[in-house]
Amino acid sequence: MLKEYDVIVVGAGPAGSMAARYAAAKGVSVLMLEKDRDVGYPVRCGEAVSATRIAPFIDPDEKYIASHINKFSLIFPNGTEVTVPLEENGYILERRIFDYELAKLAANEGAEILTRAYVNGLLFDGGKVSGVKFEYRGEPHEVKAKVVIAADGVESRVGRWAGLKTHIDFRDMECCVQITASGINVNSNTCYFYFGKDYAPNGYFWIFPKGNNTANIGLGVGGMIGKKKSALSFLIDFMEKNYPNASILTQIAGGVPCTPTLKKITAPGIMLVGDAARQVNPLSGGGISSGMIGGSVAGEIAAESVKQKSPDLVLTYDKAWHERQGKKHIVYNKIKNAIYNFSDDKFNNIAESADNLPDNKKSLGNVFKAALIHNPSILIDVAKVFVIK
Ligand SMILES: Cc1cc2nc3c(=O)[nH]c(=O)nc-3n(C[C@H](O)[C@H](O)[C@H](O)COP(=O)(O)OP(=O)(O)OC[C@H]3O[C@@H](n4cnc5c(N)ncnc54)[C@H](O)[C@@H]3O)c2cc1C
Repeated sequence: MLKEYDVIVVGAGPAGSMAARYAAAKGVSVLMLEKDRDVGYPVRCGEAVSATRIAPFIDPDEKYIASHINKFSLIFPNGTEVTVPLEENGYILERRIFDYELAKLAANEGAEILTRAYVNGLLFDGGKVSGVKFEYRGEPHEVKAKVVIAADGVESRVGRWAGLKTHIDFRDMECCVQITASGINVNSNTCYFYFGKDYAPNGYFWIFPKGNNTANIGLGVGGMIGKKKSALSFLIDFMEKNYPNASILTQIAGGVPCTPTLKKITAPGIMLVGDAARQVNPLSGGGISSGMIGGSVAGEIAAESVKQKSPDLVLTYDKAWHERQGKKHIVYNKIKNAIYNFSDDKFNNIAESADNLPDNKKSLGNVFKAALIHNPSILIDVAKVFVIK
């Protein structure tokens, strides 16, 4: 370990590994610090991604793909099930392996990685972040850096230490709970989404198959609802009703910040990426691929700022992220707020319209159009998604 690096990345999730890789690829020195013993573990994720969105960053490899998805099945409150083929395929990942592979790609570009390295403070020099303090092998360390990239996930503290406003409204923090269970007889090419107040009020319930009758089963509910009945109670009720004999292999809980990105994700000497910056797609709750995008953009800008000896370049990342992805998330958030407030009756009306579509017209787009007919005001927001490239 050196006494000083050009870039230090805190957290080795998808966002952190991408930031470390893209910075190191530009020839600057990079240290990535991960508090856990293993990169990629523990997993707190449904593990669903779009194949197209991760394709620019990593080659498909069966060792990290648990199943290939080409259909969505939408289950509405009255029990109507509408199955639609996907135009773009997806994967259910083995994130334990996927995250590890992403970290290896960063290491191959020259990034140094330490696990069991717990960052517990920042160093400052005249108001600018100038390094990190961390515990490693029971010893305290202080290492300087020209740029620190905070990729420390949903519970991020690093941004706050730097004086950034990382707080989000509790109503936008989806409370998620998930089990991985075996004995779940579902199609291994289909992701199942359940809607309605009995499954997941202000959110959705999912079954994501992992092959061999194993699946991730979980839900996310809005903050207010979570107080009335816990997300776990919804999950237990569902399992008792539908899969009373399933074996539960893991159980996890966690928050997903379903909100537009923080207003400011930079300060002098520091950049925030992934969940730490709230870069999750607020509509789907998916943060893997958007965190990877955020990490790659930040890593490149950090390296350029070091190479050009221009600390102010770091501050251009706010705009770069907004242009690349952030402005779409603002629109997705509006659509989320409309859809998550649908009553069960409205969902059932959509189900009826969707179910009446001829089989060759059943697509996600057409189901969405049916949803629009029942809530035309979303149309303006949807139009914006397509206008904003
Ligand atoms: C139940 C659930 C289901 C989900 N399902 C999906 C899904 O199906 N698809 C999808 O795209 N997204 C899903 N998400 C969201 C997704 O998991 C996150 O958006 C994604 O992991 C964010 O990546 P990240 O790199 O920003 O953070 P993380 O993956 O959380 O990585 C952060 C890393 O930082 C480390 N760290 C934290 N603090 C410190 C510190 N002080 N010092 C050193 N290291 C530190 C952590 O140990 C961790 O390894 C789900 C989330 C939950 C909770």
